[in-house]
Amino acid sequence: MADMINVMQPSLGERELAAVGKVFASNWIGKGEQTSTFEAGFAAHIGVGRDHVTSVNSCTEATFIAMELAGVGPGHEVIVPTPSFVGVGNAVASRGARLVFCDVDPRTLNPTVADIEAVITPRTKAVVILHYGGSPGEVALIAELCRSRGVLLIEDAAVAVASTVDGRACGTFGDMGVWSFDHGKTLCTVDGGMLYVRDPELATRAPKLAYFGLEQKSGYDQAMRARTRWWDFDVSSFSRRSVTNDVLAAIGNVQLSRLPGFIARRREIAGCYDAGLKGLEGLLTPPPLPAGHESSYYMYWVQFEGGIRDEVARDLYERGIYTTFRYPLLHQVPAYGSSASLPQAEEAAARTLLLPMHQALTDADVERTIDALHECVTARLSEATVPRMRVAQRSI
Ligand SMILES: *Cc1c(COP(=O)(O)O)cnc(C)c1O
Repeated sequence: MADMINVMQPSLGERELAAVGKVFASNWIGKGEQTSTFEAGFAAHIGVGRDHVTSVNSCTEATFIAMELAGVGPGHEVIVPTPSFVGVGNAVASRGARLVFCDVDPRTLNPTVADIEAVITPRTKAVVILHYGGSPGEVALIAELCRSRGVLLIEDAAVAVASTVDGRACGTFGDMGVWSFDHGKTLCTVDGGMLYVRDPELATRAPKLAYFGLEQKSGYDQAMRARTRWWDFDVSSFSRRSVTNDVLAAIGNVQLSRLPGFIARRREIAGCYDAGLKGLEGLLTPPPLPAGHESSYYMYWVQFEGGIRDEVARDLYERGIYTTFRYPLLHQVPAYGSSASLPQAEEAAARTLLLPMHQALTDADVERTIDALHECVTARLSEATVPRMRVAQRSI
């Protein structure tokens, strides 16, 4: 269709192209100066020391490395909210640990501190939470709980690149944090990720795990002085190659400078949706952010009464508007072998739909989406099998 409205979309343009051109011309495209600048810039952006971040080729890879650094293994349990990204489930399962899924608040789709506490056992090694849609959630309280129970907290901040609580960046409340810069994320390097590690000693291991566990004996100059060879090495762990490169980092450096503008536009769009959808019967907009919380506005989610979500999604698609639902519940993925029943998450997963949200949306796109929702919801509700009265009275 000619003018489909995307649900998510990157903003890459002339400035990124020019930066990539410079890297091509330099003849050094591997991990180098641009990557170093990107790591330093990102560390400053999230307010941590430069030596605590490692840039890698995806957020999923960062999560796998985090699991290894955390020492997660057989006999351990790792708590994951059921609406989580599949890569997190795989990172835990691949270590031979048991995935323990927890429920979430049905309106925010973030786990509460009580949801986490309910499933902590003496075998719990770590908790991996995400910040749904970019909303921080109860991360500060969850970090406190984890600390008091001797459990590691890893934050999947993939969609929380600019989310904060009282000025502190999401991803830095726990022991480790991971971010994504893939094709769908707000800050996009085409593909890429970042890993933050709080513990200084563990933080020095992260870059090695991202590069074959390589222990280079010395550089050129050192080897020249010592009259030894600079190509000798040893390995400290049998690791993969998870590093990124200067072509992608150059894009990242431009994107980082554009990030405040992206977030401002997304906040504006969320405000338009809030205003335009307020009072539409049968539809709930996201709950307001608590005081002191800042979102990245990565997703704008609405929730439907009357079991009409799937029909409305199809109606919108026919009108040229893409929507989706993230994240399909992991406790219902057969391979993870969970028998849990998590009623609040299940209810939320049946009602929630993500509307188009990205910084390139025009005011006209947003209006078109709002108008279409008014029409589709009203039409579908009037034919819904759920009696009107009950719909009006129910709240979630
Ligand atoms: C996109 C995403 C990831 C994975 O990021 P990649 O860089 O594609 O590996 C992880 N978690 C969440 C919540 C995501 O949205």
